Amino acid sequence: MKRANIPIFIPHRGCPNACVFCNQHTILGVVGTPALEILLARARAEIETALTTISPDTMCEIAYFGGSFTGIEPDLMEALLGLAAEYVAAGRVSSIRCSTRPDYVGDAVLDRIAPYPVGTVELGVQSLSDAVLFACRRGHTAEDALAAIARLRGRGYAVVGQMMLGLPNSTFADERETAERLIAAGVDAVRIYPTLVLQETQLADRMAQGKYSPLSLDEAVSRTADLLDLFDQADVEVLRVGLQETDGLREPGTVLGGPCHPAFGELAMGECFYRRAEKLLQGEIPCGADVTIAVPRGRTSAMIGQKKKNLSRLCAKFGMKTIKVVEIDTLLGYNIKIVHNRKEERNPCI
Ligand code: SF4
Repeated sequence: MKRANIPIFIPHRGCPNACVFCNQHTILGVVGTPALEILLARARAEIETALTTISPDTMCEIAYFGGSFTGIEPDLMEALLGLAAEYVAAGRVSSIRCSTRPDYVGDAVLDRIAPYPVGTVELGVQSLSDAVLFACRRGHTAEDALAAIARLRGRGYAVVGQMMLGLPNSTFADERETAERLIAAGVDAVRIYPTLVLQETQLADRMAQGKYSPLSLDEAVSRTADLLDLFDQADVEVLRVGLQETDGLREPGTVLGGPCHPAFGELAMGECFYRRAEKLLQGEIPCGADVTIAVPRGRTSAMIGQKKKNLSRLCAKFGMKTIKVVEIDTLLGYNIKIVHNRKEERNPCI
């Protein structure tokens, strides 16, 4: 069955924190925090509009994103949950999802949301290195995040871990360890966000003072590709790579640094496929052959790469003339295989 979210953004509402990288108003393209009635009316209108575009055979969730949903005023939180619950009760959506911080899912707030049909909680973990969390002024520790995941899983929620790459003080070893610990903690899915330097953030000031250097596009693509491979092997779905481009982000002068690219996810997926193909072909030693590589459905463009970069690199490295890419239903994730290798059949390499 197809799946879809109806995202409702509640910008910065209830968030007293000031993480060094965050400027929610810029990310979401929204300024100010309207009154409860206005927020509710807007949310209802957005849900109704979205439902007209979603086919009835889609499993659909109402998703409260932005800010820290379980940290907003209890009356507003329950009003928004009540609104979404109406749609679940009417069978128009299947459940509710919300995003929040690891230190905002204590037992008291979880008791409050328990009567509502919330199925998934997304946690802004960002890093599981205390040194990185401290440098980012997150205001919670790695242990808080792991305890939050355990508490949510214990109450039966699906948990999505959101992590960031290229944060201050963060090395790739920290990021890989964060991914490994998220897997070990039993998250159901993840989102990966390379750090962008947004205007009017502490990170922008640090960059201007020469105290922070963002990742280059190539570094970020390489690190993300490695994590995609890791999560795929652990069977943990990656729901998204890179921030969604909003009008706010597109405004000139908004993104001051970092790996901002409209097709960042595609680049990282392409790199992951390239590495899988490289490994596979090393075993095959095709040696001048014409090769056909099978990929999961819908992944041809990621395997080929932008401007056919992946195919050119593979042909150059292994001395092949052509590589054809086909899709087959039985492959999932980043699994690929060679289904046809004519030269090898006629004249095996030695
Ligand atoms: S907790 Fe979330 S919304 Fe609040 S400042 Fe940090 S990143 Fe932004």
